[in-house]
Amino acid sequence: MLIHNISQLLTLNGGPQRGKDLGRLGIIEQGAVLMRGDTIVAVGPQDELITKYPDEQRMDANGKVMLPGFVDPHTHLVWAGDRAVEFEMRLEGRTYLEILAAGGGIISTVKATRQCEYDDLYAQTRARARTMLRYGTTTAEAKTGYGLELKSELDQLKILLDLDDEGPLEIIPTFLPAHAIAPEYQTDPDGYTRLICEKMLPAAYEWWLKHETGRPLPFVDVFCETGAFSLEQSRCILTRARDLGFPLKIHADEFDNLGGAQLAAELGAASADHLVKTSSEDIAALAASDTVAVALPCTPFGLAETHYTPAKEILDAGGLLALATDCNPGTAWCENMQFVIALACRVLKLTPAQAIAAATINSAAAIQRDDRIGSIEPGKQADMILLTVNDYRHLGYRFGENLVNMVIKKGRMIPIV
Ligand SMILES: [Zn+2]
Repeated sequence: MLIHNISQLLTLNGGPQRGKDLGRLGIIEQGAVLMRGDTIVAVGPQDELITKYPDEQRMDANGKVMLPGFVDPHTHLVWAGDRAVEFEMRLEGRTYLEILAAGGGIISTVKATRQCEYDDLYAQTRARARTMLRYGTTTAEAKTGYGLELKSELDQLKILLDLDDEGPLEIIPTFLPAHAIAPEYQTDPDGYTRLICEKMLPAAYEWWLKHETGRPLPFVDVFCETGAFSLEQSRCILTRARDLGFPLKIHADEFDNLGGAQLAAELGAASADHLVKTSSEDIAALAASDTVAVALPCTPFGLAETHYTPAKEILDAGGLLALATDCNPGTAWCENMQFVIALACRVLKLTPAQAIAAATINSAAAIQRDDRIGSIEPGKQADMILLTVNDYRHLGYRFGENLVNMVIKKGRMIPIV
């Protein structure tokens, strides 16, 4: 299939974009893409490709913009219920940490998720995966973390793998029993940390070997934060995970700076995420590493807070910056990367081009899949979106409306509008 008459073909070629390099879209005006099966075969000006491949079946893009499908590298997709009541409480003046201390927050979702039957939980998660796809996300990382005990955590991992098998949204799983201190261990966080290190991580490793069909190991993540896991506990969990062979991620500096960002750089984590209360030293450590800094602007927005990730400083220091939704029921129920881009342009002061690169090739790097997705280049997986507009800057400029006309996932065309 040769897709032609693309007004702006945003290839995002050339790999992840560090520091001030961010925003190289690799635009081909009047471009075309040839794909066969699930793979991109050729990319270039349409005149060239039509001459070279005269017998290919064609699709007219009608002068619209095409870019790589969005890669959302931080989501908590699998949960049951909602926290609308808590949202109202927060608006009435209670803080997130106060709600957490009162037994609300994550723990209320843990209770709902533990009680939810597999089929029901699958259906609730699947609905969100469908919404993501509709808004142009073709690959999403998704975390467990609303079980906080082995069986429930592994059930959530199973749901993520089953959803990925079903498609079309591709799911990259993360094992996150260290999302919060389990309710049974509220007075003994060290005990829960030991349980994770000594029982849950080795059991997840065994489970994976038994159940898997050739996928790489999932990520292991930890919520390094006041009221969750201390720096020492986080180090313990991530070191154990690394020794078992799991690639790493971390939630760091969302509310307090405990040193999680530097720990991520030190341990070679794929990404450090949130990074709101991040210091200049932390930023320098990240910039000197291959750990991707993932900004989640929907979270402070969802909490009606005023502090956001210092994206400019990260770029000035030469860091790798990516964007994600953080889709979760407590602070940011948002499946839509277009909204993240619009928000990033305003609160992180990114240009549309920078935000697009941070939501495609750099977010693919944040889940260590930039060799296969995140750009439109020969040999890569055919994951692309066609917009309803003819200038890419409408992404960022406009918000609240879906600008995706068609999603192409592994070469399969899915009309949206
Ligand atoms: Zn998160």
